[in-house]
Amino acid sequence: MKKKRIVLHFPHKLIDKPIAYHLVKDYNLVFNILQAKIIPNEEGVMVLELSGKDKEYADGIKFLQRQGIKVQTLSRDVKRNEKRCTHCGACIAVCPTDALRVDRKTMEVIFDINECIACELCVPACPPRAMEVKF
Ligand code: SF4
Ligand code: SF4
Repeated sequence: MKKKRIVLHFPHKLIDKPIAYHLVKDYNLVFNILQAKIIPNEEGVMVLELSGKDKEYADGIKFLQRQGIKVQTLSRDVKRNEKRCTHCGACIAVCPTDALRVDRKTMEVIFDINECIACELCVPACPPRAMEVKF
């Protein structure tokens, strides 16, 4: 069984094609869309969590590549060094998934690892360097 977070970069000619449908129907894969950015006449970017049996997972990835889709694996994780975080909020504006957001009760900045897609945008945005990349 394989479960990975991947980024798909697909050319605009494929934007209206039922790619995800084929992953489910032809390869028995389960996916969860974490983020999608589609701009007409430009490359589309989609971040997925994709899971399935090893062979079907590999075949599904090959299928994507055959369509002309660039597949990038997110193999790194981002974590927060709690001792360094000052809850200044500078990271909130750059986080595309709201993994970094304010808890209205405590007014502290929450880091929700389940929402994090490891894009690393918060790493340079954090003044005390509390956001770290874990290999
Ligand atoms: S920018 Fe850094 S210090 Fe400020 S809230 Fe975000 S993680 Fe904490
Ligand atoms: S790496 Fe940082 S900016 Fe990117 S999703 Fe995770 S918390 Fe948000």
